[in-house]
Amino acid sequence: MKSIPLLLGALGLVAGLLVGSIPSVFSADAAPTPVAMACSRPVLDVATGQPVSIGGIPWYAEMGDTVWSHEWQGQPRYQFGNRRYHYVGGVAGPNRTFIVEDCTQQPSAGRAAPAPQVTRLAPDTYVFSHTGYTSMFIVTDQGVIVGDPMGPNRAQLLKAAIEAVTPLPVRYVVYSHDHADHNSGGGVFRDTAQFVSHSLAAPKIAARNDLDSPVPTITFDDRMTLRLGRTSVELLYTGRNHSDNSIVLYYPAQRVAFAVDFVPINDLPFRGLGDTYVAEWLDSLRQIEALNIDTIVPGHGNPGPKSHATQVREYFQDLIRAIEDAEKRGLAPQSPAMTSSVRAALYPKYGNWLSFGPYLPENIKGIYDNWKQFGRFSVN
Ligand SMILES: [Zn+2]
Repeated sequence: MKSIPLLLGALGLVAGLLVGSIPSVFSADAAPTPVAMACSRPVLDVATGQPVSIGGIPWYAEMGDTVWSHEWQGQPRYQFGNRRYHYVGGVAGPNRTFIVEDCTQQPSAGRAAPAPQVTRLAPDTYVFSHTGYTSMFIVTDQGVIVGDPMGPNRAQLLKAAIEAVTPLPVRYVVYSHDHADHNSGGGVFRDTAQFVSHSLAAPKIAARNDLDSPVPTITFDDRMTLRLGRTSVELLYTGRNHSDNSIVLYYPAQRVAFAVDFVPINDLPFRGLGDTYVAEWLDSLRQIEALNIDTIVPGHGNPGPKSHATQVREYFQDLIRAIEDAEKRGLAPQSPAMTSSVRAALYPKYGNWLSFGPYLPENIKGIYDNWKQFGRFSVN
């Protein structure tokens, strides 16, 4: 565990932090391997022309990533899991438009994606980040337990990173939830691994019919212990939150939990809270707060301390209270006046979070959508 203070101290400061015996191919200044170049392009904010980053890590979109289309009833739309091409263009909120270059026809040239960032969190526990996405893996005496593959290109690089630290095979791939940008690409581990998910995720993954995304054969509803050699990890279902099938890979021995997309670190919850269950999400966060962990590994960006779960819970509570306050003062739901009022209330505490500007109006809409779908709920 001694590298954790080093890791946390380096958050936001050092890209490509390396601890341990990872070969230089993964160092920040080494040339990326060709496989990373097959179809990775930086996502640009067309308003500024600058690359977009997720959780402080530059985002290079790849096949299966989530982007937005103009063409669906005039509304932003999620697009998941299509391996054939990148989507071109899209609206990502009122203030930003993202463009993902089409690289169907030719391999990416010129602008190389950065090398993966591999961090040794504990003697047997590694965090892997690349192009905006994060996963982790645990090396046991009988093989490797790995989290999300994160799309076919990242999965190839993740596999290479694992091979750089151990000759043992990957035995389990644990899908955090059914969203394709996190769980596609696991085919690279198919020859040695079994695939694990929540029972509600497996049929959704199967329905995508993506040959490169093996369908989980091990599923559970509430809790499961995964044993490999002398290592035990706990897989926990903490209820519905960012999806109805998100699970937590909890490794008690190293006091770490891999929790994807529902504990954003220094960032707002994603956009319009689509496919979410906010009331139950709050309960999920309380369960994370109750775990004996020091570190949360998120699905995007760098790891952080457990206090981030508390911060996200408090954000939702403050958001809902600010909306209710605005209503009491007669401001119309989702009106610009309400948005201004909520923004002013939340700015002192959350104004420095990554997507505070673009996502706040969408989060407000997301709360109303949740209320419409599930009824009003109290946050007190
Ligand atoms: Zn997701």
